[in-house]
Amino acid sequence: MKNNKEEKNSSSFSTMSIWAGEDSKDFWQRSTQAPVVHSVAFGYQDLDEWYEIAIHQKPGHIYSRNTNPTVAIFEEKLRLLEGAEAATSFSTGMAAISNTLFAHLSPGERVVSVKDTYGGTNEIFLNFFPRFKIDATLCDTTDHEAIEKEVAKGCKVLYLESPTNPTLKVVDLERLAKAGHKAGAIVVVDNTFATPINTNPLQLGADLVIHSGTKFLGGHADALAGVVCGSKKLVEPIFRYREITGATLHPMSAYLMIRGMKTLALRIQQQNENALTIARFLKSHPFVQDVYYPGLETHKNHEIAKKQMRGFGGVLSFILDSDFDAVRTFLPRLQYAHVAANLGSVETVAGPPRTTSHVEVTPEQRAAMGIPESLIRYSVGIEDVNMLIEDLTQALDYTSKQHKK
Ligand SMILES: *Cc1c(COP(=O)(O)O)cnc(C)c1O
Repeated sequence: MKNNKEEKNSSSFSTMSIWAGEDSKDFWQRSTQAPVVHSVAFGYQDLDEWYEIAIHQKPGHIYSRNTNPTVAIFEEKLRLLEGAEAATSFSTGMAAISNTLFAHLSPGERVVSVKDTYGGTNEIFLNFFPRFKIDATLCDTTDHEAIEKEVAKGCKVLYLESPTNPTLKVVDLERLAKAGHKAGAIVVVDNTFATPINTNPLQLGADLVIHSGTKFLGGHADALAGVVCGSKKLVEPIFRYREITGATLHPMSAYLMIRGMKTLALRIQQQNENALTIARFLKSHPFVQDVYYPGLETHKNHEIAKKQMRGFGGVLSFILDSDFDAVRTFLPRLQYAHVAANLGSVETVAGPPRTTSHVEVTPEQRAAMGIPESLIRYSVGIEDVNMLIEDLTQALDYTSKQHKK
């Protein structure tokens, strides 16, 4: 698999994931691992030094709501992995998304986006924007012409996400970034599902890239985090806004991100491979009606995925050839999957959109969005793939006997 722009090999990603931001000369008592600096405030030789740090003439920290040494290491890793000039972090992925949008938008301005964004993002568009008189037009996610048409009418932000949740649609980031820039828009991409290992949106023309660190970056489902990367000019106002909203990443969570990211490249490589193998297996199973995974040749956006993804990611979804009762039977039968709401972890996690990403919408609305009731989202971990396939096989066989149509 290749990326059309600046080829990065996986060895540079693994090296960066481990070493970026870590200058152990500066670590307390020469520890080799990043210290978790819980200190709220920092001291200075004199008031002149304090002042120089305050006006950013000298590197250093003042107050941990604004910047913190442990948090800065996490930001530096993402900055380098995404090839960005600047990065700033947040307490959660949703904090990264909301702070980015509200830092750059004013009443009367307009956002163009797609229907399949993350549930929380969609909530901002539909329920919060109207109160601030910000207009959001949500297009059919894979109708590139429709998106281009709406963008050409003028917008401040073009907001994209790829692959999407839970049906794994892939949008052509390079093509849409061009359309966005023609209209003078800031092009924002939520890259959570792809991770920087599989896609670098900035190299495809995007202006800002966002991650929920909670998912693949941390990778162990034990810490919440968010981050945005891009040019200094665009990241600076977001940082200023976050200093004031106070949606700061906690140093302990930053440490868990740093620790988790040491294996990011390895994990993603394994998850890419496992997911592709499992998607192919599921595709051939008689009790599975359909499988959504961008790595399958039959996936509607496979050509776009091949163009902009080095690997196709660790998340897939599939439809049981039955109804929601079959999902009730199937999920508890899985031995090697948490039935839970998260994704991107080292362990496999499965769940239906009905209780996770699309819990707020009715079955009819889900159907209209192309999400049948018997769809299961399956976030593949780094377990032995043959054991996962055996596990899926026994659960599918059992369920099909109980629920054959
Ligand atoms: C989980 C997720 C988010 C939100 O992240 P949190 O850390 O839970 O706030 C945003 N975008 C995508 C694509 C996600 O999967």
